[in-house]
Amino acid sequence: MKNIPVIMIIFGGSGDLAHRKLYPSLFNLYEQGLIHDNFAVIGTARRPWSHEYLREQVSDAIHETHDQVDENEVKAFASHFYYQSHDVTNVEHYVTLKKLAQELDDRYSAQGNCLFYMAMAPRFFGTIATHINDQHLTGSGFNRIVVEKPFGHDLVSAEQLNKEITASFDENDIFRIDHYLGKEMIQNIMPMRFTNPLIKNIWSGEYIKNIQITLAERLGVEARGGYYDTSGALRDMVQNHIFQIITLLAVPEPKDLSSDSVHQAKQELLKSLIIPTPEEVKKNFVRGQYLGSDTTFAYKKEPNVDPDSTTETYVAGKTKFTSGPIAGVPIYFRTGKEFKEKKTRIDIVLKHINNPYGQAHSNNITIEVDPESKIYITINGKKIDEPGIRREDLTYAFSKEEMAKVPDGYERLLHDVFVNDSTNFTHWSELKRYWEFIDAVEDAWQKENEAGNPEIAQYLPYRMGPKEADNIFESPTEHWIYE
Ligand code: NAD
Repeated sequence: MKNIPVIMIIFGGSGDLAHRKLYPSLFNLYEQGLIHDNFAVIGTARRPWSHEYLREQVSDAIHETHDQVDENEVKAFASHFYYQSHDVTNVEHYVTLKKLAQELDDRYSAQGNCLFYMAMAPRFFGTIATHINDQHLTGSGFNRIVVEKPFGHDLVSAEQLNKEITASFDENDIFRIDHYLGKEMIQNIMPMRFTNPLIKNIWSGEYIKNIQITLAERLGVEARGGYYDTSGALRDMVQNHIFQIITLLAVPEPKDLSSDSVHQAKQELLKSLIIPTPEEVKKNFVRGQYLGSDTTFAYKKEPNVDPDSTTETYVAGKTKFTSGPIAGVPIYFRTGKEFKEKKTRIDIVLKHINNPYGQAHSNNITIEVDPESKIYITINGKKIDEPGIRREDLTYAFSKEEMAKVPDGYERLLHDVFVNDSTNFTHWSELKRYWEFIDAVEDAWQKENEAGNPEIAQYLPYRMGPKEADNIFESPTEHWIYE
């Protein structure tokens, strides 16, 4: 693999994301030789750490995620890490940071290549982008920036943030990361759709009755109540992960697999995304909050949550496109906290056909994304020793050994940033469209809140969310496949 020269600056170097995901992923890429002799990482955060302390943290992060490691390799890798105590709101700190980056660029012959990673609370993204620009932190080689979610809080704030970032970076150099796009089964959606005549030929409203996407979380808001109460399930999960999945399911076949062609196809599709009216929001969306149990808090009683909060911990909704292969097909989605289990799955429900055997199950295609990775198709056949039809699943799955080789989403996506492949990142025009949709729903809910009669369904913890979500289907013959 190519050895890419680069100085990487991580804003939020003492944080959870850096520790659990970025450091282990970078180590794996180092082991593969993608970054090796000519790279250095500057971790920044407010705490007064030393270079040595950061290196210990990096080493711990690798030991926590790897069963067996060569200690010399870990040591050699960690020696590329430097710590800079840095308050992102203090302009002078950017001057020191720039000096360190330049020194390291010389020491490691990084050819002026810079990679900035915003791995901290989103309210700081704009400030960091502004100071990267006014303190001229960019180098003389390539300059790329990775921005974590959420990118904005609504369309207006996303536009503002985008303006601040594009002051220093071209659209092609901005990597808006959504780790769902690095997941094995999400990356399998396009190959599954476009290489199997069996699937490709039925991918239309003629055969598909509806599509259902579920992103279920088992946990409640835990320690994140303060942040979550300003966000909610729609902004936290639908605006990014669910819309990325919807887009991959509905996109027309791109002319080739280049990043430009894939994004062009997605953008063409998204023009035809139907933005719901307030009446449609009322009819097609359900928001909910979890109740407490003997052992758990109700959402409104969680620490740092407003006791009168209208923030949803659950949302179910419907969307459609007017163009593309599945134009007109209803796409239902739901996500929330305190479901019965953690699960991400996609169900493609096919229409029934008339047949001489009478009752037969519809063929469904299910993509399980988490915690298992598999695709299965339900098919019908005859029962062996009695009249009637039985159904079985045909499964496409991986062996344990294969699964062990699947890289973490972050490792995949960081690899893509280093090799400058933006296929699996969110383009601004896509993000903008997602926010237009989310804002329409949020505005409708806000109006309901202001009128004093918000419909917020309450649901019991560790089940399947509120029963009201069973009523968003277009026809009485539709229901949630995963129950
Ligand atoms: P975190 O709270 O653990 O870390 C935040 C970091 O920012 C810390 O290093 C902290 O010291 C630093 N910081 C805070 N205020 C600062 C200031 N004024 N100046 C300089 N540094 C400051 O957060 P996290 O969980 O690592 O999340 C970071 C980002 O990654 C967020 O945008 C989050 O949405 C996103 N993300 C995190 C995860 C995850 O698994 N943790 C997953 C997906 C996305």
